[in-house]
Amino acid sequence: CGIVGYIGYREAYPIVIKGLKRLEYRGYDSAGVMLYDGENLKISKTKGKVADLEERASKEISINGTIGMGHTRWATHGVPNDVNSHPHLSNSGDLAIIHNGIIENYAPLKKELIKRGYVFHSDTDTEVLVNLIEEVQIKEKLKIGKAVQLALNQVVGAYAIAVFDKKNPDEIVAARLGSPLAIGVGEGEYFIASDASPFIEYTSNAIYLEDGEMANIRLHKPMKVRKIKDDSLVDPYIQELQM
Ligand code: GLU
Repeated sequence: CGIVGYIGYREAYPIVIKGLKRLEYRGYDSAGVMLYDGENLKISKTKGKVADLEERASKEISINGTIGMGHTRWATHGVPNDVNSHPHLSNSGDLAIIHNGIIENYAPLKKELIKRGYVFHSDTDTEVLVNLIEEVQIKEKLKIGKAVQLALNQVVGAYAIAVFDKKNPDEIVAARLGSPLAIGVGEGEYFIASDASPFIEYTSNAIYLEDGEMANIRLHKPMKVRKIKDDSLVDPYIQELQM
């Protein structure tokens, strides 16, 4: 399984697809992509290989946009099928998430969200997390980074996630606990991936998030890295990759 993300000035789709192919060695049963073109949030996903995703996406969505996220899934909750594939959207349609890992306490959280009127389309633990983030965001009137942080503090499990909010479209929020996550730092662009292989030809500067850290990856403002638990800011170590 793997995740890839891009926010910058280039077309995201080829970067995301190529990146997913580089992460194929990690094993997976389904693949999906999200693109944002400044107006529309577009998702295409499928059981099968990244090549199947390419075929489907080219028919299903317009593959333009300078913000993108891609996912290869190794199913843990819910069988491998198109609906259970990532990205998953929140009920409002504003938030999109990709996730590797397991949300162990998804069942009680899901029950609570259903009581509050949330509807679920998949059998995944991940769809519970994205709706929990939305619930927290709406209830507390929060920006996406804070909402992700509060939601993650209610979660037990392991994750590498990337979250995009159509209402804050200059930003991707990434977080990890128990699953790897690297951020490639370019000029006016950022890359997110399970390892550095998807972005090695674009930048040699990488930040490896530590367990329990999250990053607000923002286009026009400096990136902020903080501890999920206590909100303390971290001065991220930028590592020079060998090209
Ligand atoms: N638990 C999630 C799911 O089953 C993510 C699996 C993964 O790591 O790819 O959809």
